[in-house]
Amino acid sequence: MTVVVTGGAGFIGSHLVDLLRDRGADVEVIDRATGSDIEHAEFPAADVVYHLAGPVGPVGVLSQAGRIVTDIIRDAAIVRDVALRDGARLVYVSTSEVYGPQPAGRTDEHAPRVIAAGHSARQEYAIAKLAAETMLLNTPDLDVVIIRPFNVAGPRQRTEGGFVLPRFIEQALAGKPLTVYQPGTQRRAFTHVLDIVEGIALAASKGRRGQVYNLGNPANECDILTLAAEVIEATGSTSAIEVVDPVTLHGPAFAEAPDKVPDPTRAIEELGWRPKRDRLTVIRDALA
Ligand code: UDP
Repeated sequence: MTVVVTGGAGFIGSHLVDLLRDRGADVEVIDRATGSDIEHAEFPAADVVYHLAGPVGPVGVLSQAGRIVTDIIRDAAIVRDVALRDGARLVYVSTSEVYGPQPAGRTDEHAPRVIAAGHSARQEYAIAKLAAETMLLNTPDLDVVIIRPFNVAGPRQRTEGGFVLPRFIEQALAGKPLTVYQPGTQRRAFTHVLDIVEGIALAASKGRRGQVYNLGNPANECDILTLAAEVIEATGSTSAIEVVDPVTLHGPAFAEAPDKVPDPTRAIEELGWRPKRDRLTVIRDALA
């Protein structure tokens, strides 16, 4: 089995590459960080193309605002054409951000996609990913499966994207206050990256063509003040918790997302996906 992983040097991608190699796949990584850009790469003929490369994180995307849409669509078109050329399955790793603000409760794949007012970098990212998904799903003859991960965390996640857990860990270890964005009652379900890559691999082998799957563990749901307290405890830190306004910190292109909690029933039933790792394991493994 030959597979290509774009973004294979990144946080989720590198764990996916490890898992696929452990299972005996011949894995080709295409990643700007290791010197191969999607635009200029030579894609080998493969059975599966996993597309994970892209801008990352609510802070990471800020510097790319204005070209997020064009970059994401361009790259999606390139991997689509490679998959069509080789008759490969394309596993497109999208984002839960495509749902936009949702009513309270768990979000399944039938939820309408909501476009909020405004034009933050987060919205540009969400619109781009949704447009790319739609383009791929509407391409005749393309064997595509779409994954929408919710709040992935764990080892190797870096602070640059702005994601909360690596930020809190860095702050706690430095004895600095943990910056909880107001109000602190916003909710997320943090899912271990090793559970997520299992789901992505299952999508390649068992996913239905043209299907969309949420991946996220609702059992790990909590509010952000709780997460901050748990990080302080797990690190043995004496840091305080400070509730701050993120726009003051990151500028007006930054936007918060309201509560995000997945309903992954479809992935559980159709793929046999079983997220196993609880929130404390996510936090402890992220410390390693
Ligand atoms: N968050 C926070 N402090 C930080 C970074 C993030 O309180 O220093 C909050 C953020 O407001 C959000 C949650 O943590 O409610 C998850 O943020 P993250 O950027 O990890 O992911 P996303 O907002 O895209 O779900």
